[in-house]
Parts: sequence; structure tokens; C-alpha cells
Amino acid sequence: MKVPFLDLRAQYRRLSTEIEKALREVLESGHFILGPKVRTLEETLACYLGVKHTVGVASGSDALVLALMALGVGEGDEVITTPFTFFATVGAILRVGAKPVFADIDPETFNIDPATVKDRVTERTRAILPVHLFGQCADMAPLLEVASCWDLRVVEDAAQAIGAVYAPDGLPPRRAGGMGDLGCFSFYPTKNLGGAGDGGLVSTDDDVLAERVRILRVHGAKEKYLHELVGVNSRLDELQAAVLLVKFSYLEEWTRKRRENAHRYDELLREIGAEEMGIKLPKVKYRNHHVFHQYVIRTPRRDDLRAFLWQRGIGTEVYYPIPLHLQPCLRHLGYREGELPEAERAAGEVLALPIYPELHPEQQEYVVEQIAQFFRGIA
Ligand SMILES: *Cc1c(COP(=O)(O)O)cnc(C)c1O
Repeated sequence: MKVPFLDLRAQYRRLSTEIEKALREVLESGHFILGPKVRTLEETLACYLGVKHTVGVASGSDALVLALMALGVGEGDEVITTPFTFFATVGAILRVGAKPVFADIDPETFNIDPATVKDRVTERTRAILPVHLFGQCADMAPLLEVASCWDLRVVEDAAQAIGAVYAPDGLPPRRAGGMGDLGCFSFYPTKNLGGAGDGGLVSTDDDVLAERVRILRVHGAKEKYLHELVGVNSRLDELQAAVLLVKFSYLEEWTRKRRENAHRYDELLREIGAEEMGIKLPKVKYRNHHVFHQYVIRTPRRDDLRAFLWQRGIGTEVYYPIPLHLQPCLRHLGYREGELPEAERAAGEVLALPIYPELHPEQQEYVVEQIAQFFRGIA
């Protein structure tokens, strides 16, 4: 049996008629940049996320840069973030001229550990940039508390977490991207809501910040050829918005399937005694509604297991093999190996299994059977 890590063609086969119709509408309209489809998508997602404003931009990476620019974060400022994320998170901080400051992660959720954030605050700290990794919200309540205590802004990297809900005891449930000052989303094709190319979105409840992001994405122009700020060209195009609007109507169903698949893995892995074999299963904390962008297990035998599964026709991925504080281009920040031990340990142990909505139960059974074979040494 073959189990690819991801199968975007299966999704397209089901939606092709609808998507092609929506694309044809755009092609025939002659309106390609920031038109009615983008506006509809922005309104639809503002409603879904429970925020006042969303602004469509060219990518998730740009969403992060524009959010930081809108806050005026730049030269001389520090931004506290996690070392265990996709490079774009820290790339955005550096691109606006600020300094990333890394806090270690909670080894159970892989998200930034709020307890270690407090110690990183200095007089230069301007913002905290938590990532809702793999589809589970970071522990926002204590982060927001630190932020309000030190008058810091909060930008959520929700690129992997569209639809995730954070609902710890005693607090009203809130969606990823609706808790900080600004939220950033990616429509990269492999994300839970993915386009047919690059795309991104910024969410916020703040009228002034929304207006600033709106201006910054079109070279800082409030009206044509009148530039109030120095911005960038980062617009979401109509073809992407058309695809995303079609796919959005399936998002809840896809999320439900991802969650069902995660639950099935949990059960199958427990049945083979995975925990006794030293495998750690994903843990959901703070009454999170996890949207399982990735289903990530941990084992010290990760590399051998991955090679074994590959030979058996099963695709897996490692997110992320090198924590950001140890990346060659960030050497100047002066971090040493051993300084952020949980992120470093995670980088050596994590393995993402196929989890997409179109995955069949038989495929999952096969994946878990092969994992059992590896650990029983029947290989
Ligand atoms: C995908 C991703 C991004 C960047 O999004 P792009 O649309 O690829 O630019 C940023 N942060 C995280 C955590 C991501 O997973």
C-alpha cells in the first residue's frame, strides 16, 4: 500500500467543477487584483474568525511582515518568539529590522512556553510573536497577561491554525488569530485552507491597525498615487480568492475529518502499545480545539523509523529538523547549542504522519501496523 504524506490532487478531483467555474468568472471579469472575490473572502473570514477586519495579502510570510510594520516594530526593537517554527516567523522579525529573542517551548504542545517568556522581556521588547504550531493554539492567556503587564503587542502566527479555538477553563472560547493585536494566516497550498499558489491574510479587531495593513499592502497609498507610508506590494489576487472561497465552504468538514483521523491514530497507536515503545502521541491542552494541520509523534528513534516507513511506501515529514536559533544565518544572534533544550530535543524526535482529510482508515491502519513492525523489530 502507498500512503503519500499529502495528496492535493484528491482534493482537486472532488472540487474541480466548482473551482474551474469560479476561476472562469474571474478570467471573464478582467479584474485580477483586490477585486470583489478578495472583498468577499475578507468579509467571510472576518466573520468566521470573529474579528472586525481581515486584509488579504500575498503570502503568510508577508502577513507577518505587514503586521509588524503596522505596529511600527523595527530597528532597535526586540520581539519574543519560538525557535520551533517555520523560518518565516523569525524571517519577518528580521525583515523589519528588529531582533528576534527566543523562548523555549512546551515539549508537549511544541508551542512557546509562557513561563519562559517573562524572563526574556527587556526595555527593548516591543512584541510577542507566538505560533499556533501544527494547528493547536499556544497558551495565550498567560502570554496576553505578560503583554498587558509590560505593554507589549501580540502578533499571532496562525498560519497552521485556521479554525483552531482556544478555550481554557473560565475564559470565553476564541479563535486563532482573534486573540492578539493581529493574526497572520497563510493560504500556501498545503495549509488547511490552501490556494492554488501563494496567499495570506491579516486579521485584527483594531480599526487603525487594519487601515494601516490595508495601506501598507499597496505601497502605503491611501488613495492612488498619494503615499502616506512606505509600504510594499503584497496583494491577494482574485484567482486565489476565487479558489479559497470555494474551498472555504469545505473547511469545517475537512477540519472534522482531520480531527477524526487524529483520533483514529491515537486509538490505533494505543492499541499497539505505542507509549510503551517510547512513542509520545500529540497532546491537546487548555481545552484547545486542535485543527491538526499536522499529527506529530515523538520518538528518539525518529530517523530510523522514518527510513523504515519510507521503504514501506509511507511518506512522513520532519517539522522542523533544526531549531531557528541554530540556523547558520542567525549565528550573529549568539545562541549556542543546549541553550533552548526542549526545542533542540523536539527537533531530533518529531515525526509528522499523513493526516489530510482524504486519508482512508485502511491507510492509517497500515501506517500504524508498520510502526508496530518497526518497534517489534520484525523489519
Ligand atoms: C506556512 C507558514 C508561514 C508562511 O506562510 P507562507 O504563505 O508560506 O509565506 C509562516 N509561519 C508558519 C508557522 C507557517 O507554517
